[in-house]
Amino acid sequence: MIENTYFGWGQLPHTTTCTSPAWDVDVRHDLGTRPLTAAELTHHCPDEHCAHTGAFDRVTVRVICRSCGTAHVITGEALARTVTTTQALGYGQAPRQIAGLYLWPGRPVLHGYGPGRSGLDDQPYEYLVTTTLVDRLTPGDCVGAIGRHRTAGGHPRWWAGAIPTPPPLRVLPEPGEYRLAWAHRTSDHTSPDEAATWIHGALYADQQPLVVAV
Ligand SMILES: [Zn+2]
Ligand SMILES: [Zn+2]
Repeated sequence: MIENTYFGWGQLPHTTTCTSPAWDVDVRHDLGTRPLTAAELTHHCPDEHCAHTGAFDRVTVRVICRSCGTAHVITGEALARTVTTTQALGYGQAPRQIAGLYLWPGRPVLHGYGPGRSGLDDQPYEYLVTTTLVDRLTPGDCVGAIGRHRTAGGHPRWWAGAIPTPPPLRVLPEPGEYRLAWAHRTSDHTSPDEAATWIHGALYADQQPLVVAV
């Protein structure tokens, strides 16, 4: 679901009167203790860092604004902190510019599935597509999408969707869930670039001047 790469994520709010919105972000690790059901139960496992003992890592993220004084404290038992890259997330990269469009990458399709064509699992990307460069992508900005699929014969191909249309309401969406749907689709492109060119054509087909024979 490439939609989840971009949508359903909220920015931490400042006050409406904040004159200089900027966050200071700090992370703290504490060793928490979990009360054991029986006081005589002690930990005999040779792994002192294992998760079944009475201790756990507690992570707290403290986010403050020195201008408006707003503070957000995010905490939870076993809340994981993952250090990764925008290349692995897709999100946070600059969009690719192709065929007069901006292509916003999602998570690499093969992430976690071993070597792709690059020799790594870092490729390829699927994309959401806009006609303009925006600071923060919204569903309304998207004019198309490009995704990978396999044909019945097992050949990798790229599908493309163009021109937003309301998605069929088969299931009520969960909070934070976004589904984009497209009025026009094709499925037989051999590369994302080819799919982008098709989207460009689909978007501007209606705007080509009519040639009238006289
Ligand atoms: Zn602020
Ligand atoms: Zn143990």
